[in-house]
Amino acid sequence: MRNFLNRLDETRFLGLDVWEFSWRSLARRYGRWFLASVVLRHPCRTLRGLRRYRRAKCRPREEEPTVVGSPSVESLRDQLAEGGLVVATGFCQKPLDPPCPAGRFNHRCVVWSLNPRRELPPACRGCPIRELGLKTLAAGGALHIMTSAADIADDLFMPSLRHPRWRGAVLAICPYSIPPFGLAMSICGLHGILFSYDRGDCRDYLAWARADEGDKPEQTFLAPSVHRRLLRLLEEIAEIRSARKLPAYSGFHEEKDFYLPVWDAPGIVPRAQAD
Ligand code: SF4
Repeated sequence: MRNFLNRLDETRFLGLDVWEFSWRSLARRYGRWFLASVVLRHPCRTLRGLRRYRRAKCRPREEEPTVVGSPSVESLRDQLAEGGLVVATGFCQKPLDPPCPAGRFNHRCVVWSLNPRRELPPACRGCPIRELGLKTLAAGGALHIMTSAADIADDLFMPSLRHPRWRGAVLAICPYSIPPFGLAMSICGLHGILFSYDRGDCRDYLAWARADEGDKPEQTFLAPSVHRRLLRLLEEIAEIRSARKLPAYSGFHEEKDFYLPVWDAPGIVPRAQAD
């Protein structure tokens, strides 16, 4: 069966390359949710999303990001500068040695948890999530650390399906997840710019399914040039906001699984920038 599904993916049967992922996910909470709450409940949206997805160019292992729901990075960037931006990366980007003080398989980051009296732990000094948070804040966005697919459905896909909470997302994910993410976003109406990890990523369904339960022994990394490109994109959004005289935020407020930008968060930004 797996070979047959892989063959469907390789030949992009009906213009889709998510056959294996979709079939095998039916045994998991996320797959059942997607089938029951999205496909069966919203058949017209699903058909429209499938058409959009077939037109999109997914670039799982290239430096160029995949753009979902918009003709180009630039046009979506200009929209995101107005607000409603969420920036997310996987828990697997948290460092292992020394380990992340917030733990691994969760949505938390102690740097952004509004606890300004704490010293910056050693693991945080070179952590890409700390840097991502700084640029996200300057871009006026919310920061989110993704865990399981079921949580991502609750946090990102479901809100887009009901009444859009986010104008768009900038995501760092493994190349293997780009097609299923792109499809889910196309159907649920979440626009986004997706950057691929280059190292430590899950390369098949089994590795993905283990990571989906928190069993992820590797740390993932974006290629340095892709990391710079992502940060540059957030800087450009910040520059557009500044040119349009949109307000600047001073820190994050932790709310459920998100760090939301707020005006009055004394202490957090100076500490985060400390080294
Ligand atoms: S900055 Fe990185 S290492 Fe430090 S708490 Fe946040 S995610 Fe963990």
